[in-house]
Amino acid sequence: MFDSPTTLDYASVVSSVANLSQEGFSTAMPPTSESGFIGIELSESKLRAATVNHEGVVGERREAELHRDGLVGQVVQLVSDLRQNTNGIAAVGIAIPGLVNRQTDRVLAARDLPGIVRDDLHAELMEATGLRFELENDANAAAYGEFKIGAGRGCRDLFYITIGQGIGGAIILDGKLWTGASGLAGEVGHITIDTEGAECECGNTGCLETVASAPNIVRRANERLHRDGTSSLSRLAMNKDFTADDLAREAKEGDDFSLMMIERTGKYIGTGVASVINLLNIERIVLGGGVMQAGDLILNPIIQEAKRRAFLPCFEATQIVVAALGEDAATIGAAMLARDAAIS
Ligand SMILES: [Zn+2]
Repeated sequence: MFDSPTTLDYASVVSSVANLSQEGFSTAMPPTSESGFIGIELSESKLRAATVNHEGVVGERREAELHRDGLVGQVVQLVSDLRQNTNGIAAVGIAIPGLVNRQTDRVLAARDLPGIVRDDLHAELMEATGLRFELENDANAAAYGEFKIGAGRGCRDLFYITIGQGIGGAIILDGKLWTGASGLAGEVGHITIDTEGAECECGNTGCLETVASAPNIVRRANERLHRDGTSSLSRLAMNKDFTADDLAREAKEGDDFSLMMIERTGKYIGTGVASVINLLNIERIVLGGGVMQAGDLILNPIIQEAKRRAFLPCFEATQIVVAALGEDAATIGAAMLARDAAIS
């Protein structure tokens, strides 16, 4: 990455930072097994961070509201704060909800973040801290976290799907993130599930995201509730807006309507999963994100539908499992990406 003509010369940045007399600045040293790493996940309104050791074990954690007008300063302050509590921080990884070019270290698109991230965020952060930074798309970072220390451990090839506010995906082949021709590989949320379905934000209609993301599960449930007044969720909906989490909870408590909605959502996801299996003959599929908190209630219909629709020999070669790292996946993954880039 430092060979790229569009990035700052790392050595000159480090030496210029080394000349600063301010407390807290130091030169970046090559990582050792004693080194620590910082992973940061940026989202529309929040910033989550953690220090992670060489084996991926989390130490300190921080969470804060995102300061949209002072994002760079906030990240620098956070890194400085975490460095005071953890010796030997060697590199920082940042997971970004957007398109990142790892060759140039530039954020090409991040609709939910302030425009400053599309300036040279990478160079600014390195200059201010003297540390090495890696920027990566958040789904890719989460996939890498699961691959290294979570539900993807022990395999070489993995497809990761995160199902929450939207649906994202990432591909790891032969132990490395495979991001495609322009960094967009793995956009499983935009596989067409229903050719006559609802319009998607991407411009297509009937994408998996239009039926199985958390807001779209709620939309489908609301549409059906008009026809079924007996559900406990129907009583809930009379008092407040409900969420996909509420629906999963009601399903776990045995509400038939909620169970049906979760099961149908699982079938849609399983249809997408079958396409992934047929296309890649992939060793393992890891399913993460808030919607998967419904557990077996959603996993079982996903597996059944994938089995029904995929080419059977392909299906039988694929393990379909739930992610293990929960909300930590992207922060840990970003830190592990920073570790592996620093030692390579
Ligand atoms: Zn779409």
